[in-house]
Amino acid sequence: MIEMQDVYKTYPNGVVALNGVNVRIKQGEFVYVVGPSGAGKSTFIKMMYREEKPTSGTIMVNGVNLAKLKDSKVPLLRRHIGVVFQDFKLLPKLNVYENVAFALEVIEESPKAIRKKVMEVLDLVGLKHKVRSYPNELSGGEQQRVSIARSIVNSPKIVIADEPTGNLDPETSWGIVELFEKINDRGTTIVMATHNKEIVNATRRRVIAIENGKIVRDEAKGEYGYDA
Ligand code: ADP
Ligand code: ADP
Repeated sequence: MIEMQDVYKTYPNGVVALNGVNVRIKQGEFVYVVGPSGAGKSTFIKMMYREEKPTSGTIMVNGVNLAKLKDSKVPLLRRHIGVVFQDFKLLPKLNVYENVAFALEVIEESPKAIRKKVMEVLDLVGLKHKVRSYPNELSGGEQQRVSIARSIVNSPKIVIADEPTGNLDPETSWGIVELFEKINDRGTTIVMATHNKEIVNATRRRVIAIENGKIVRDEAKGEYGYDA
């Protein structure tokens, strides 16, 4: 569960990116975050994995108040929240297998168990046959699939994605969204910021619209609601 109460964020340069946000996202929901550029979508999402701290307010994620979480505990949090970025952020010198294994929390796991987990998630994203490839040998869609495999390898309750289809063509984007739906079907909460009007309008999930740092719309089977 994710819950924000009276969340404000002012960046050091004085920009008010979030201006009083209240929201509850239940375990297992699939949520799109939409709104114009500069509205505060990324800041909203970054709050959920403590990439940014609120200036004031509370953010509860799986029972932990991230506003108060010690910096030393952030890496632990990150292993329990999968994050997917527009630009994939794969490590270029590691192959597909290594990129996913690298993110795996290896405490008390045998090499055999690690291999099983990594291969399971690569199978789920349809990339078992590319385990030995390097990121620069993959298409954009394949790289995003690897980054999704990395985000779920620790079986997080929540996967957060910031414009995951922003660099992909329409057909590839659909494949990525179908993959998120498959992950959501297993009970994982998905929160995805997106500008993809076609996908939002076709899939009719919960839509949270942000403008000028405020939630201006929150609908259970929402639409994109903007022209582009
Ligand atoms: P969106 O994701 O909707 O485009 P952002 O959350 O990235 O919006 O940005 C909201 C506002 O905060 C914008 O005015 C942006 O320029 C500003 N902003 C974002 N990140 C920073 C930062 N690190 N420092 C200062 N201002 C920022
Ligand atoms: P950085 O670019 O911050 O020096 P890395 O190159 O190691 O760090 O990783 C690139 C980005 O990907 C970082 O922001 C890191 O937090 C993020 N990252 C790596 N693995 C995961 C993961 N499993 N879930 C979420 N984010 C991850």
